[in-house]
Amino acid sequence: MKSILELKETYIDELKKYFENSRETEIFSIVRLGENPGDLSYEKGLRKTAEEVGFSVETVALPLESSTERVIEEIQKLNSRKEVRGILVFRPLPKHIEEEKINDAIDPEKDVDCATKENQWKIFQGKEGIQPATALAALEIAKVLEGDLTGKHVVIVNRSMVIGKPLSMMLLKENATVTLAHSKSKNLPGLFQEADIVITGVGKAKFFTEEYAHKNLTVIDCGISFFNGKLSGDWDYEAVEKKVKKITPVPGGVGSITNGMILRNAIKKS
Ligand code: NAP
Repeated sequence: MKSILELKETYIDELKKYFENSRETEIFSIVRLGENPGDLSYEKGLRKTAEEVGFSVETVALPLESSTERVIEEIQKLNSRKEVRGILVFRPLPKHIEEEKINDAIDPEKDVDCATKENQWKIFQGKEGIQPATALAALEIAKVLEGDLTGKHVVIVNRSMVIGKPLSMMLLKENATVTLAHSKSKNLPGLFQEADIVITGVGKAKFFTEEYAHKNLTVIDCGISFFNGKLSGDWDYEAVEKKVKKITPVPGGVGSITNGMILRNAIKKS
């Protein structure tokens, strides 16, 4: 069975092979507002991976106070350029930006993170298409760690449009039994007792401790937060590592393969 590292290498190799056979310049475009250090650091890593596999990378860097119309204008320019294969708008967007209008402006063929309604609707219909990178990363890891997901009970703790909602549909397509939990759900430890796999995206460092663990549980941690200045997932990894069947680390887990998923989406025809 593959490890997460091998999964990452498989996607990177696939992308490199794709570019070995491609003669045209293919551009991956990042649209960023402002100079948030987190965005700049994320952009650096994504740019490195994208260029390593063969993309040309362009960043449209706009002032933080740009209007929704100004951002849409730039997206439309990218939509009209044939050589632009993927458009990623960095989030979260500033509060004054009308996010839905931004999402609607992206050409669904160039949407790399399932931001458009057209691509989201395909997921809810169980059709082939672009899938959101984090949800896809979690799903691919679940398949690597657990194999066939048919009949497996998966509890997801997150109901956002980037993780929980699309992931629940993607897991149903794999014939898993899905429970979607959130901040108003009661008795999470009890729910987890019934689960084969738990996928969390709560965003609270070390929130899940030993009381949530059991030895037949596989944990996929999508959370990214900081604890004492260090990157941390939703789970207290050191405390639960030996009390569960498997657990993905943070860093080095879901986050380490999402860039590969975004880049794979850029060359995929939706
Ligand atoms: P979000 O929209 O804030 O979603 C957080 C979810 O956690 C919500 O569904 C919320 O429930 C639930 N939640 C919060 N507190 C809870 C509690 N005490 N018990 C149970 N559920 C609780 O955030 P998001 O954008 O989906 O991101 C979630 C996390 O994933 C963040 O740490 C983010 O950094 C990370 N993330 C990682 C990647 C990656 O590549 N690895 C990509 C995207 C996001 P309600 O719906 O009831 O509020």
